[in-house]
Amino acid sequence: MTQNTRRTFMMQVAACGGLLAGTQAMAQAAKADEKDPQAVGIGYVADTTKVDKKNTANANHKPEQRCDNCALYAAAQAKDGYAPCPLVGNKLVAAKGWCRAYAKKA
Ligand code: SF4
Repeated sequence: MTQNTRRTFMMQVAACGGLLAGTQAMAQAAKADEKDPQAVGIGYVADTTKVDKKNTANANHKPEQRCDNCALYAAAQAKDGYAPCPLVGNKLVAAKGWCRAYAKKA
């Protein structure tokens, strides 16, 4: 491999790495929408105080249950009050959110 070819190759690798990092950052930035099919399936709401109490499917909801004290909330990646949750395809859920799959953090 000539020096020019190697240099070009390294520049392409660096460019691809930058693109990949940018794509990952964009994916991590996507917030879960309450109307996303996955969010609807688990009854996700971005604000635990707004849970529909009339819906019997939400009968187990308690006001102190929030995404940020749920075992599935990726707190280590939390930023600006949001963190990924695997139940909504790792989209960002609100720290003060809730869903029917809530599991108290140990
Ligand atoms: Fe929030 Fe936990 Fe439900 Fe994920 S599983 S949306 S972190 S309550």
